[in-house]
Amino acid sequence: MSDPFSLTGQTALVTGANTGIGQAIALAMARAGARVIAAGRSPCTETVALTGGEFLLLDFADPMAARDVFAARRIDILVNNAGIIRRADSLDFTESDWDAVMDVNLKAVFFTAQAFAKAAVDRASGGKIVNIASLLSFQGGIRVPSYTAAKHGVAGVTKLLANEWASKGINVNAIAPGYIETNNTEALRADPVRSAEILSRIPAGRWGQAKDIGEAAVFLASPAAAYVHGTVLAVDGGWLAR
Ligand code: NAP
Repeated sequence: MSDPFSLTGQTALVTGANTGIGQAIALAMARAGARVIAAGRSPCTETVALTGGEFLLLDFADPMAARDVFAARRIDILVNNAGIIRRADSLDFTESDWDAVMDVNLKAVFFTAQAFAKAAVDRASGGKIVNIASLLSFQGGIRVPSYTAAKHGVAGVTKLLANEWASKGINVNAIAPGYIETNNTEALRADPVRSAEILSRIPAGRWGQAKDIGEAAVFLASPAAAYVHGTVLAVDGGWLAR
């Protein structure tokens, strides 16, 4: 009997796979049997070594960077993980910080998904898309206006694409990680007041680890999630339940 959580025989492209959550997703997918393409603007040397996969240079400073990737070869799973954050008071927030975050965190997510889906539809192969959303897909946050706008957008686009593509055999879902110990949250963890405030309201009583997200991504990319469409799965130690 085949294992419904296995990714054997599948090829997964993970963006931003050199560090943090993207690296953990790449590792978890490789453990589940997938061939991994670790994509990003920086070499994913460690991830490639650990997964036995390959590196693909994709810099979403051009949000259309992946336009030709999926027609060239069959890729079954797309994880839109690459993301940046810019922090400043909204009174002072600049247009360049707005545009930089929207380009990588939202525009590239849509157009990479579009390129993936065009190839999947042409091949009638179906596929799985996992977008990395955020608690700030549901909450406002503070001092991160473009990040919050982009991550609310990721949740909306995930649902929209699920509505359009579920009938084409493409599952589009998202994961909303809680507070995870990565580069993205370095500034928060370095601030003793904010760090203690955050920890005190996480029911699980700990910050998340990147591998907590990796296993959830494997589920959404696997045959076990065949009937899961358009969900934004919080993996947050219970934060949103509070
Ligand atoms: P991270 O370690 O900073 O990882 C971000 C990844 O995105 C890195 O690989 C980075 O590459 C890549 N990236 C940034 N700009 C790029 C571009 N222009 N083109 C291609 N790749 C680019 O932080 P992380 O926490 O793992 O973040 C991963 C995702 O999770 C992001 O979408 C983030 O918003 C989301 N998230 C994180 C948390 C958290 O608590 N950590 C919570 C919710 C959501 P470089 O190494 O070259 O910069």
